[in-house]
Amino acid sequence: SALFAAVEMAPRDPILGLNEAYNADTRSNKVNLGVGVFFDDDGKIPLLRAVQAAEKARLAAMPARGYQPIEGLAAYNQAVQKLLFGADSQLLAAGRVLTVEALGGTGALKVGADYLKRLLPGSKVYISDPSWENHRALFEAAGFPVETYPYYDAATRGVNFAALKAGLGELPAGAIIVLHACCHNPTGADLGVAQWRELVDICAARRLVPFLDMAYQGFADGVEADAVAPRLFADSGLSFFVSSSFSKSFSLYGERVGALSIVTAGKEEAARVLSQVKRVIRTNYSNPPTHGGAVVAAVLNDPALRQQWDEELAGMRERIRAMRSSLLAKLQERGVQQDFSFITQQRGMFSYTGLTAAQVERLKDEFGIYAVSTGRICLAALNTRNIDYVADAIATVVK
Ligand code: PMP
Repeated sequence: SALFAAVEMAPRDPILGLNEAYNADTRSNKVNLGVGVFFDDDGKIPLLRAVQAAEKARLAAMPARGYQPIEGLAAYNQAVQKLLFGADSQLLAAGRVLTVEALGGTGALKVGADYLKRLLPGSKVYISDPSWENHRALFEAAGFPVETYPYYDAATRGVNFAALKAGLGELPAGAIIVLHACCHNPTGADLGVAQWRELVDICAARRLVPFLDMAYQGFADGVEADAVAPRLFADSGLSFFVSSSFSKSFSLYGERVGALSIVTAGKEEAARVLSQVKRVIRTNYSNPPTHGGAVVAAVLNDPALRQQWDEELAGMRERIRAMRSSLLAKLQERGVQQDFSFITQQRGMFSYTGLTAAQVERLKDEFGIYAVSTGRICLAALNTRNIDYVADAIATVVK
């Protein structure tokens, strides 16, 4: 039949396309700096010891696999709320927050976007310029027009805060603004605490609808410090959305563990909003899978495992920091004139290096080093064995 005869090939995902090219490369010293995954110093994705312990206990208990509630595991959702807002948050005590388990950070954004489309059908979504490439696609797929607000400043390799404030100051009431809570992807450039305060004030004054994307809690300065944005918004009295992902912080990428939290004006309102969000979930995938959320809840709700996770998370964070300092030092040792000191100021897994598309192309062609054409590299893909090679290559292409 002719059902699919006119179907066109969709464009390849730029980053997954990079992976395919990397996998097909036969050079033994090739390096993939394109992906957003944390690797240990042996170049492997870690399975955290705290996760292993929780999984062993879960397996030994041989739990039956009945359906979960539509909103997922209560112990998990409560643990997520404490990570975001603090164990003794007034917001939580007042019952203002509802949290639903979701399929990774992406799933949380998707449920949030679908619900927002029902709540504010005529609204527009604003994402940072630049942003994680899936933000635009996701909110467009939910039916929103998506525009950008000013964010990154190529000259300083940091945030152009004046432009950001001016941009947000022009938005209409009810505009949805997607904010990276920490470890901005792709630039690595974050706001400081004083800047977050100002931003919260602008959102309140202009009656914007903030949607915080928390995909890297614990990767910048630590679990508590990295929650400054949700906690400042919490103090403001505003209503807002937060998506959480544990893909990176628990190294559980494939288990799809995330959550959507919505901060409302009060307990009774939270119950009504939850009932509507459950309808969105029910017609998408009905209820979330059991394993990932159960493991994360087991770790977060057990003091010993929680401490072990904190230590392992600190280890991941410190390894990335060490790679940042080491890369900077090695570029300087190689006599690179250009100022790369921003590499140690940017936070999280990524850096916008300022490498041009042509330089990125040369890294690939001449060295088998794969980066995103925008110059984004993943620092967590560097290790003590490949970093000299990468520094040599970058020094060569920028000269
Ligand atoms: N938001 C941002 C900013 C991200 O970088 C990512 C992951 N790359 C996600 C959301 C999605 O997270 P997950 O893999 O848990 O769906």
